[in-house]
Amino acid sequence: MPELDLSKKVADRYLKREVLGEGTYGVVYKAIDTETGQTVAIKKIRLGKQKEGVNFTALREIKVLKELKYSHIIELIDAFPHKENLHLVFEFMETDLEAVIRDRNIFLSPGDIKSYLQMTLKGLAFCHKKWVLHRDMKPNNLLIGSNGQLKLADFGLARIFGSPDRRFTHQVFARWYRAPELLFGTKQYGSGVDVWGAACIFAELLLRRPFLQGSSDIDQLGKIFAALGTPSPSQWPDMVYLPDYVEYQYVPTPPLRSLFPIASDDALDLLSKMFTYDPKVRISAQQALEHRYFTSAPLPTEPDKLPRPAPKREPKASDFDSHEGPTVLSPPRKSRRVIPGRDGFEGNSVQRDKVDDNVGNSRQTAGDTTGKNDPAPMSLDFSVFGLKPPNRPTINSADRSHLKRKLDLDF
Ligand code: AMP
Repeated sequence: MPELDLSKKVADRYLKREVLGEGTYGVVYKAIDTETGQTVAIKKIRLGKQKEGVNFTALREIKVLKELKYSHIIELIDAFPHKENLHLVFEFMETDLEAVIRDRNIFLSPGDIKSYLQMTLKGLAFCHKKWVLHRDMKPNNLLIGSNGQLKLADFGLARIFGSPDRRFTHQVFARWYRAPELLFGTKQYGSGVDVWGAACIFAELLLRRPFLQGSSDIDQLGKIFAALGTPSPSQWPDMVYLPDYVEYQYVPTPPLRSLFPIASDDALDLLSKMFTYDPKVRISAQQALEHRYFTSAPLPTEPDKLPRPAPKREPKASDFDSHEGPTVLSPPRKSRRVIPGRDGFEGNSVQRDKVDDNVGNSRQTAGDTTGKNDPAPMSLDFSVFGLKPPNRPTINSADRSHLKRKLDLDF
């Protein structure tokens, strides 16, 4: 990508189509680049008013992504300000790992799981090599392209780490993917937080449902300890010094095999190393990639052979209002238009999603084909964690305002 020139960008180059989803910091639209014909995804982020300062999250995402060019990291094609918004133009991705995991028509073989995890870890190892933490690992931030390539996306919370005494906010990650050191309020953490998140995703691929579904931070720690055993101070010496440390009732460490009966020995060995409590001892993303799990049979499935949700119907001309049609990004405000939600047009279910699931990801309710409320195949009896999972949490609004303040400070 050439050096980003924010001042000269012409916004009406992009033909805006339907809403793809809504993240923590902005709506994402599908769009066509009229110069190249390429389909892209445009994240529109409202820039703060001058007196509030600029939106550091957006600037951070640009800064981070400019430095991260890799096959398993989403490509930032372009970025430009327009009106009061900043637009980030990304390569378009067909689906995401959450949609794969939830799709009850999809059977994930051990080789498929290995492949998805390997691509996740490759993306993470690359970030960590460049001293970037992702800090928001979760299945719907792992986007999947039409060739089956998985890429890490949503770097709004990413930040550069490296200096051992830098203090960061611990209000990162959707709760179910948050490492225990974050839940105990640590301000100094490293790449291990992303590895813990990847471990939760690995477990979710094996179980076909989120592994540790806490309803609060305290409950999240309780769920972790109930599943993996309460850590002893000898296992994790720094734990008792963490800011929010409280003692939990002792639960012995159950064999992982009892939770993942169909996983291979190699899978469980790697999973246990990723779920190591002491972040200093936890396996790194690079070491995880070198684990024998990835070289033992079955080998990881080739990405283009991986099962993915059935492609969504491309919107036809009749899907758009015949008088207005799709609009370019830059016309005067009154003629700008976001296509309203309507049945059969999956990309527009954001508002409905916001009501019944705080994930805000339109793909999850797409025509109900993802089987959100139905058990996925290969689901195991995980009743110890409750039959019906609570709404998948993201960073909640209280966390978010706290986070916003923190981000403004530690950018
Ligand atoms: P984010 O703010 O990055 O979390 O994005 C919000 C939602 O927009 C995601 O959950 C996806 O559903 C969708 N999305 C984001 N980036 C892309 C992309 N590059 N291609 C397709 N959909 C995307």
